[in-house]
Amino acid sequence: MVDLFIKNGLIVTMDKERRIISDGSISIEDGRIVEIGRGIKPGEKPAETIDAKHKIVMPGLICSHTHLYGMLLRGAPLKIEPPTDFSQILTRIWWPMDEAMTREDAYASALVSCMEFIKTGTTLFADTFSGPNAIAGVLDRIAAAVEQSGMRGIIAFEATERRTHAEGARGVRENERFIKKVKKGARVRGMFSIHASFTVSDELLHYVRELASRYKAPITIHTSEGLVDVYHNYERFGKRTIERLSDAGLLGPDVVLAHCVHVNDDELALIKRAGAKVAHNPMSNMLNAVGVAPVVKMLAMGIPVGLGNDGYIFDGFENIRAAFLLHKAMLRDPRVISPTEVLEMATIRGAELYGLESELGSLETGKLADIIIIDPSTAPTPVRPESVIGHLVNTIDGDDVETVIVGGNVVMRERKLLTLDEEEVIRIARRSAERLWQKLGAMGGS
Ligand SMILES: [Zn+2]
Repeated sequence: MVDLFIKNGLIVTMDKERRIISDGSISIEDGRIVEIGRGIKPGEKPAETIDAKHKIVMPGLICSHTHLYGMLLRGAPLKIEPPTDFSQILTRIWWPMDEAMTREDAYASALVSCMEFIKTGTTLFADTFSGPNAIAGVLDRIAAAVEQSGMRGIIAFEATERRTHAEGARGVRENERFIKKVKKGARVRGMFSIHASFTVSDELLHYVRELASRYKAPITIHTSEGLVDVYHNYERFGKRTIERLSDAGLLGPDVVLAHCVHVNDDELALIKRAGAKVAHNPMSNMLNAVGVAPVVKMLAMGIPVGLGNDGYIFDGFENIRAAFLLHKAMLRDPRVISPTEVLEMATIRGAELYGLESELGSLETGKLADIIIIDPSTAPTPVRPESVIGHLVNTIDGDDVETVIVGGNVVMRERKLLTLDEEEVIRIARRSAERLWQKLGAMGGS
């Protein structure tokens, strides 16, 4: 029996042909799409029907790289000497914050971030949490928040040896513990996360490689986000970052390299040869003033590139727009990236990054029903099959997302969240942020 039937929508499938169907319908059974485009079988009575007339129906957005706990830094009036480069951004802002984080802060930040993701149309994210004083068991607290929200997540603890080797191993073991525990097909899954090559030894790279292969789990690592990564590897190993990761045997189709801002053509060739993938974070790269990743080259080479927010702006449509604009400005050529390419990064390519392209990232028969319905009624020009992609990139904001469905379950209907109490979530997040800001000396009491 059809559990949920969506009718009359302008469907942007993101399938192999990138089909756009006007007045289309989607039938969902047991959390999966069983029919798309043709309407309902005669005599079939769906349990629930959503009329998507004058609405856009598309796959839920996928955020390929985030830090849910970054949400607690929003607006923080940090009393620090302003950082002058990426290295100082880490040592003056992020690393003190990491040390102040508790398991309950991890839970609170995950809850409020999931809420913002759902409200702006993202249904799956890949998150890495960092907090040396909250390692063992923290992924259970983050998973609890994601479960509660009804969305999907791939979560990890970010292993780093910036203080001690033992701490790096503890981080890796937290991922192993969680990955072992997760049941097949669960909405919240695990992966391995390494902070960056400049904070870990080759031994840790080998350790993670071995475990990831054993458990068939993805690996993610910040890669040449700032020049510090390149200099570190040159000084210590006489190699560039990707060369070192390649020589250490880390690279493979299960590896998602976050950023890759400072990679040269030889390194891109190594990424391509290994089948590794890239998570592009344009807004974070602008915020941290690290430079612009050579995404246009990556796309031309066929390297899969997904879109991430790196814990900064959670509205996927803002990130889509940033990715669409940044490379044109940087290369002074308006042709270098198309609206369809950036939409792919935020949907089907994001799924591909984590090996989930047969399940998620597009609206196709047999796939999981992760769907968003958008109200484009404020668009000043007609929304039609031939204009809808342009509207998604240039007109639509997260606030236009009206209904969100994850695995066939409606988690937001007509802007009303069905899984979370918005006021309560904000209260929990603000309480955590206030404690955290006090610890960081940003306000009150210190
Ligand atoms: Zn990051």
